Amino acid sequence: MTRVALVGCGGLGVPAAWTLALGGQKQFRLIDADVVEESNLHRQVLYTTPDLGKPKAARLAEILRERWNADVEVVADRLTAQNADALLLGCDAALEGSDDALAKFTLNDWAVAHPRARTAVIAAAIGRRGQWFAVTPTSSCYRCLFEEPPPPESLATCSIAGVLGPVTGQVGGYAGRALLHALAGRPDAAIGALVRFSPRGLQRTAVAVAGDCRCTAR
Ligand SMILES: [Zn+2]
Repeated sequence: MTRVALVGCGGLGVPAAWTLALGGQKQFRLIDADVVEESNLHRQVLYTTPDLGKPKAARLAEILRERWNADVEVVADRLTAQNADALLLGCDAALEGSDDALAKFTLNDWAVAHPRARTAVIAAAIGRRGQWFAVTPTSSCYRCLFEEPPPPESLATCSIAGVLGPVTGQVGGYAGRALLHALAGRPDAAIGALVRFSPRGLQRTAVAVAGDCRCTAR
């Protein structure tokens, strides 16, 4: 059985978890340090008003157990480069959907550092746009596309710039599906490619392995 870590149990993590559960995924580790806020409810649609103030990871774990009889572990923390190995120990795959740009690179590096074993899907959404990328043991990686994280002052977050609720539902769902496909060894548009979602539709950009990227050492 494959244990999937979900990094972020918010706008992207909730639809991703829902998609994974519907696709038959049974073992999860939910990693999130936030609590449910009223402004979350329009896009984090498994949470309801009585959940306000509750930790997201613990509440989502209850829902996954109740509705899908899932085996769920809860980690009330934020993923960092320093704690990644400990927080993800025992997981074979992960999906990053938090609002932390650094965590996306951390998750990529975790997947790449352990050859031929790990799969990671990295997703993001803001405003009316979103994107996702799947890293498999044989694909290019997120750093083949973005060598370094952007400087913090250049980053807009959903709490500042806002995000349209249905966009996170779409992107999180697609990201969850990409992980299901990758784990099943099936083709998916996002494996080794950046797929962008915008009001104009979907756009796929294949990413070649960069010769000087750390993933070439796999
Ligand atoms: Zn790479």
